[in-house]
Amino acid sequence: MILDLKDFFKKNEMHQRFEINFDAKELEIDDWFMIGRITGHLDLYYSDDNLFGDLNYTYAYTEPCARCNEMVEVSQTTDVTLSIDNESEEDLYVSLVDDKINLIPVIIDGIYLSKPMRALCSEECKGICPECGSNKNIKPCECEGQKIDPRLKDLMNLLDKEV
Ligand SMILES: [Zn+2]
Ligand SMILES: [Zn+2]
Repeated sequence: MILDLKDFFKKNEMHQRFEINFDAKELEIDDWFMIGRITGHLDLYYSDDNLFGDLNYTYAYTEPCARCNEMVEVSQTTDVTLSIDNESEEDLYVSLVDDKINLIPVIIDGIYLSKPMRALCSEECKGICPECGSNKNIKPCECEGQKIDPRLKDLMNLLDKEV
């Protein structure tokens, strides 16, 4: 994803939007499995002799659910601010070479910064039983019931009735 800014500089604009749409495989990330396309846009701003970019994009990947290990597709949108040819502490740095910028490294950085720590197939995922190894979403088991103290069970039954 290399953007040529020659026209932008020629037109002397203060702002221009560039669409982003390319195959996620071009990122060559192998820490997890990227799927589909990277889509979004870059808003480029020129002010006070400085070039800035606001990059907003969506990426998707598959990862095993942190509880039940079933594969989950996750789609995530992120926003990063770029400072172009002008070092800044907060923003991601992009160098300008022959009036072109390469967005691949900052898109990768933005993914590492925004990717959720874990994936869940659903908030209600019951996970795998540590006792019998059964996926409790598919096949509920009795293990947990047996381990509960009988006195606690009475209390839980009582609470159940009140709900
Ligand atoms: Zn799950
Ligand atoms: Zn079990």
